[in-house]
Amino acid sequence: MDSVQEEASQMKCVICRGDEIVPRSVREEIHVGDDIVYVTVDALVCTQCGERYFDRSTVRKLEGIERELEGSREKLPSIGKVLVYG
Ligand SMILES: [Zn+2]
Repeated sequence: MDSVQEEASQMKCVICRGDEIVPRSVREEIHVGDDIVYVTVDALVCTQCGERYFDRSTVRKLEGIERELEGSREKLPSIGKVLVYG
């Protein structure tokens, strides 16, 4: 058993108290101005309510990407639009 799975098996979800939390690759949204950038990262996900838990290094990675994107995000490919109704 590796350390991530060991950690997951001891965790309880703080939202729903579920105890089935599994390592999964998720698409996290980063909001930069009016843009949304999806970043795929590893997280622990509650199978009951879908709450995501990130370890410290993943949080730091996301913060780093957010800072980087404030400078330039023109090079990233676009997969959709953010639309405003009304
Ligand atoms: Zn939960």
